[in-house]
Amino acid sequence: MTAGKIFVVGFGPGDEAHMTHRAKEAIVDSDSVIGYKTYMDLVSHLIQGKELVRTGMTEEVSRAQEAVKQAENGKKVSVISSGDAGLYGMAGLVYEVLIEKGWKEDEGISVEIIPGVSAINSCASLLGAPVMHDACTISLSDHLTPWELIMTRVEAAAKADFIIALYNPKSGKRTRQIEETQRILLEHRDPKTPVGLVKSAFRERQHIVMTDLEHMLEYEIGMLTTVIIGNNSTFYYDGKMITPRGYQRKYTLGEEKQPLKPAQRLKREAEPWAMHGGKDEKVDSSVNPKPSPMNSVELAEEALFAVTGEAPEKPANESPIFKQTAVFEFAVSPGVWNKKVNAKQLAFLAEVIGEKGEVSYTTSHYLQVSLETDEPQTITRKLEQDGWLISPVGDVIHVKACDFCDGEKKDGIPYAEELQDKLGGLKVPKVMNIGFNGCGMACYGAVTDDIGIIYRRGAFDLFLGAKTTGRNAHTGQPVAEGLSPDKLVETMVNVIEEYREKGLPNERFHKFFKRIQNIQGFQYQEMPEPVKVDNPCE
Ligand code: SAH
Repeated sequence: MTAGKIFVVGFGPGDEAHMTHRAKEAIVDSDSVIGYKTYMDLVSHLIQGKELVRTGMTEEVSRAQEAVKQAENGKKVSVISSGDAGLYGMAGLVYEVLIEKGWKEDEGISVEIIPGVSAINSCASLLGAPVMHDACTISLSDHLTPWELIMTRVEAAAKADFIIALYNPKSGKRTRQIEETQRILLEHRDPKTPVGLVKSAFRERQHIVMTDLEHMLEYEIGMLTTVIIGNNSTFYYDGKMITPRGYQRKYTLGEEKQPLKPAQRLKREAEPWAMHGGKDEKVDSSVNPKPSPMNSVELAEEALFAVTGEAPEKPANESPIFKQTAVFEFAVSPGVWNKKVNAKQLAFLAEVIGEKGEVSYTTSHYLQVSLETDEPQTITRKLEQDGWLISPVGDVIHVKACDFCDGEKKDGIPYAEELQDKLGGLKVPKVMNIGFNGCGMACYGAVTDDIGIIYRRGAFDLFLGAKTTGRNAHTGQPVAEGLSPDKLVETMVNVIEEYREKGLPNERFHKFFKRIQNIQGFQYQEMPEPVKVDNPCE
């Protein structure tokens, strides 16, 4: 008699396309197949002509015992579980029955556990990408696990901001568990936390609901549903539930709190909580690595312990609750044309920014501030009251003006201010500068900005589409001379509207101008190719 074998097969969510090759192979290769009735029906086409042992749902132990018995009689047996057999499936049970009999792998029947796509994965794939970060599965069935323990786990997972996949969330008789779970989760998570309900993933009656923690119980949840609770960063986009790979978020003016873009996330400063503290690593190879320094309280406590032998009392129940940080970024300047800041304003700005905030001096006539806060409006209000001009950063318009010879050549100022008022901070496909110079000297270099406006003899000269980088860098093209002041703002608004409407995402203004050739009647001129020169010394 040949030795028998048990395959413990996870066949995935239900359809054949999502079953692994090895799972199919094992089932086809088996003399008999043992499983819960519904599962047998799902794989019916693979099991024709085989001995079948169908059992009810609660007869798991007898299924395992039957498998062992048959294998001991020399048969190849597949015990099938939905999803992965190692997760709330039959794998552990088969081992338990074998262990009871004193089975050892070397002498006894062989066992092969075949992994499958578990509900957390199949359901997540149908929702989008909600399980991108640390996640856990919790079964709400208190059939074999005390309810107290399940609640403790739900609470722990909620506090630690795990993405949670709830298996066995509800059945005909078990209806209170999911309500209690929602209550616990709401104590630690935002009611608006995205929640996906997936019923019968990849089966005939597949049904998907995307809701939130607050409203999740208003939808049908049953035995075949997996409930996926997002973490603090999970969001919906275009009907998809997505958890970004990383925690730091950012506010910019005029936009809701948003996750960092993937490239921003790679920067060290995007991880202020990390061991490196978000600071640049300065490696000094001459110094041996030191153990991490204690803070002064820890040092004092250790000293106290050495003297008295008494460990300091720790405040009870100090379980850290995860708090997400958000970085607020914005631009601040003394005004469109005003370039002077007084000491009081500077001191106030420093106070608002705080020790951890950061300021960078930019090429666009503003300071860019970046600080951690959950109250961006309070900050901007305070600074505005103190006379600062606040603008958003990112892909927006910056109006850069000269200082109008310290305000002496003031005729153009109202137009610069009106442009700031109408266009400053407006979202555009790619960040753009509108340079505004108050006289024909143009000493602030407006012609090197995306749009250059120069006030000269009571009218405006207009330059469009400077390209300041690359081998074919060039200034803005002169497209209009002597534009009358009453036309300026309207013309600019129309140009920007067209760019906003027809520009491709991330398309710089000069590229846009070249692509569409004509903006509001202003014609693009082909730029001359750089002339290759012979190097006389060669
Ligand atoms: N071993 C299985 C889990 C069995 S417990 C696995 O790894 O997926 C049964 C629970 O699994 C169900 O209550 C439901 O929450 C989840 N589940 C299993 N298959 C599912 C499917 N196709 N769609 C949605 N949820 C499923």
